[in-house]
Amino acid sequence: MYLEKLNPQQRMAVEHGTLTDGSHIAGPLLVIAGAGSGKTNTLAHRVAHLIVKGADPRRILLMTFSRRAAAEMARRVERICRNVLGSNAGVMADALAWSGTFHGIGARLLRDYAQQIGLDADFTIHDREDSADLINLIRHDLGFSKTESRFPAKGTCLAIYSRAVNSETALDQVLRDAFPWCAAWEKQLRELFACYVEAKQSQNVLDYDDLLLYWAQMVGESVIAEDIGSRFDHVLVDEYQDTNRLQASILMALKPQGQGLTVVGDDAQSIYSFRAATVRNILDFPAAFSPPANIVTLDRNYRSTQPILTAANAVIDLASERFTKNLWTERQSSERPRLVTVRDEAEQARYVADKVLDNREEGLKLKQQAVLFRASHHSGPLEVELTRRNIPFVKFGGLKFLDSAHVKDMLAALRFAQNPRDRVAGFRLMQILPGVGPSTAQKALDLMSEDASPLSALAAMPAPPRSGEDWTDFVSMLQEMKSGKAGWPAEIELARQWYAPHLERLHEDAATRQADLLQLEQIAGGYASRERFLTELTLDPPDATSDQAGVPLLDEDYLILSTIHSAKGQEWTRVFMLNVVDGCIPSDLAVGATAEIEEERRLLYVAMTRARDGLDLVVPQRFFTYGQNAQGDRHVYASRSRFIPATLLQFFEACSWPQVKSDAAAQAQARQVRIDVGARMRGMWR
Ligand code: ATP
Ligand code: MG
Repeated sequence: MYLEKLNPQQRMAVEHGTLTDGSHIAGPLLVIAGAGSGKTNTLAHRVAHLIVKGADPRRILLMTFSRRAAAEMARRVERICRNVLGSNAGVMADALAWSGTFHGIGARLLRDYAQQIGLDADFTIHDREDSADLINLIRHDLGFSKTESRFPAKGTCLAIYSRAVNSETALDQVLRDAFPWCAAWEKQLRELFACYVEAKQSQNVLDYDDLLLYWAQMVGESVIAEDIGSRFDHVLVDEYQDTNRLQASILMALKPQGQGLTVVGDDAQSIYSFRAATVRNILDFPAAFSPPANIVTLDRNYRSTQPILTAANAVIDLASERFTKNLWTERQSSERPRLVTVRDEAEQARYVADKVLDNREEGLKLKQQAVLFRASHHSGPLEVELTRRNIPFVKFGGLKFLDSAHVKDMLAALRFAQNPRDRVAGFRLMQILPGVGPSTAQKALDLMSEDASPLSALAAMPAPPRSGEDWTDFVSMLQEMKSGKAGWPAEIELARQWYAPHLERLHEDAATRQADLLQLEQIAGGYASRERFLTELTLDPPDATSDQAGVPLLDEDYLILSTIHSAKGQEWTRVFMLNVVDGCIPSDLAVGATAEIEEERRLLYVAMTRARDGLDLVVPQRFFTYGQNAQGDRHVYASRSRFIPATLLQFFEACSWPQVKSDAAAQAQARQVRIDVGARMRGMWR
């Protein structure tokens, strides 16, 4: 029986309120516990248990922090249910239709209720880059970027805006607390944000923050809140420590008494405060209800060996504030985690590649190993080394397939067909055409925006002088797509055919890019409609090179490279952590406030607790930095991260690498390094 595998606390959480009858809806429940203690597993069991006891899976709302996590959860639930219900598993056919990220679920609900809240249901969603582009357009229009070169960059403007919205904090305070160097621009920023909001509304686009903001506004209306709340008997949230105030207020509006509400998290793993997540959500949860929510804590770790746990506990022990207790495990092992000193990042890359291959020779798949790092660019030298040695890898949390120019062009075409008021998409597309520059595109978009039927307005426009046929081809492609005649996903072919000659003209490596687009088509084929595809893709893009996309590499083996942020909730048999040095973790961008340093400490804790059997923390004595010192050197000498307490040094198996290597061997190795710099440089701009 599935319940027998659980420990008593886990079982309590799973059975909370369902002891007698599945239709009985329990009061609020908080599971707060350390890493690897089975929180996610418990949540999956709880969902399965509710279904086994008769709850309707279509009336369960399950929210996780990534689509990947949601899919994994659905898989676990289904497996348990199938085991228990056997052939009656038909109930699972449309199981968990409402499982996903906050943003994804928000987008679906907003479309459902669009009419009632004065929103056009055809809205498109801007990802962070699109949002920054729109802000940039407005910055230029307002003349801020021209007259004053020190006006904050588009990314900073967006970060400020986003922080204010998500933390529900006034602009002046956000500037004071988090962006003091931008405080002088408060007046201009205010104007910029006002225009930004107006632009989004007139173009019928929502950015990420809007999905939460509109959702929160929508459920602020009690009639709608009740209506949505009554669609779901159970609402469950994983990784609650990384939700922000808006998300908490949405939950409270949906379930004001907390009936059927379960949240799960670990305050020691709170790592998203830069997106205004607040650990207060989890700490304040119990008292938000009366009577207060039930609390279950878990303290047995099932993931890591005792030595790994001892090291992780020692790191988090020094945290200034913490609710969850130290973990224990029955998994004894004689293998200690390693602290590996290497000369520089190149050597770090060779070390990791060597060890990964050693492990594989001993029978461990690449997929069971992961390399983690604080910032996406830390893995650069390793990526080159892996490529050179033909070791396949995927990377989470870095530049993705979907961020490459040609894929963005295709997506813009789909988006513009969906919503011809989407200026960022239109602006991008029109400038693909020969003879169309920014001002022509602006003019065309202005004319479109004034018309009730923007596409007809576009069709009525004379083609710009040097782009006659290309212009008309473009317009007819859009019209054909908008008509919906081709159907989904066949219509992508229309966009691809339209784009093909431009791709040839614009890119040297058109053939590889064509292959990417074919792959995109395959991925798109897995979605029910254009709208669904665009929404989910913009919100949580699958990695086209990973098994998550369900395409080619399904059976292949590859190493995982991931930022710590993207590694949340996951586990691997062996974990390598790169650049465990001051300046990288804590990041030199965070050396200010104590709160930021504390978050960096929790990041290292999250990284270390991903490991099951083996953990290597690598310390290069020199590392590359984007700044440069007085001598113009971009390398800095590094020291071990301050988060590794001196008392722990004895405990680690300390090693330096290469232990002993003759000069001749080192030279031979140096000669062996052959990389295609040209390809890499071209790759940088893809
Ligand atoms: P994190 O804080 O990293 O999100 P978590 O608390 O969500 O971790 P899980 O990922 O659910 O922990 O579980 C960690 C590992 O422990 C998984 O491999 C899971 O299968 C295993 N596990 C959890 N509970 C038990 C149990 N009762 N018996 C055996 N294994 C368990
Ligand atoms: Mg988890």
